[in-house]
Amino acid sequence: MKYLNEMTLQFDSHSINEGFARSAVAAFCVQLNPTLDEITDIKTAVSEAVTNCVVHAYPKTVGKVTVWVGLKQTREIDIKVMDNGVGIVDLNRAREPFFTTKPDEERAGMGFTVMESFMDSVNLQHNTGGGIVVEMTKTLECRKAKAVGGEND
Ligand code: ATP
Ligand code: MG
Repeated sequence: MKYLNEMTLQFDSHSINEGFARSAVAAFCVQLNPTLDEITDIKTAVSEAVTNCVVHAYPKTVGKVTVWVGLKQTREIDIKVMDNGVGIVDLNRAREPFFTTKPDEERAGMGFTVMESFMDSVNLQHNTGGGIVVEMTKTLECRKAKAVGGEND
């Protein structure tokens, strides 16, 4: 299905960029007139996915993190958070609650579980060329969206 509106962000895997990504995605989604709870859910999920890229994807270097967002007429929001880092050998194991490869750094192993509870779906894939793609969707409750792509835009 064709998207009403799409955007892509790319930034370095510095922890300071997590807040930027979360706020930028939220600002982009505002045109669908989400509730405050929905925006909070999306920000939390994006925060977890981007933090994973910062903490796990590039342990010895700084790499690129890409966030893509697509908005549908049906009020579905599709989000992809992608990196080209070390990747994950067992994607199913990584999703298990409390599974972490960094227990010594006070990681709880709850990032994917949080994403799953705040979004409608979370799909994890290997990225071509290394790293992973976290694909998340959420359909907003029925409210009137702000006009997108009108003549006066
Ligand atoms: P928390 O999110 O609670 O601080 P965590 O990051 O370890 O802890 P999850 O976000 O659920 O927990 O991730 C589980 C595991 O999956 C991580 O410990 C890490 O091994 C792996 N992982 C997650 N994202 C990535 C990524 N982008 N690149 C490489 N490994 C990752
Ligand atoms: Mg995490």
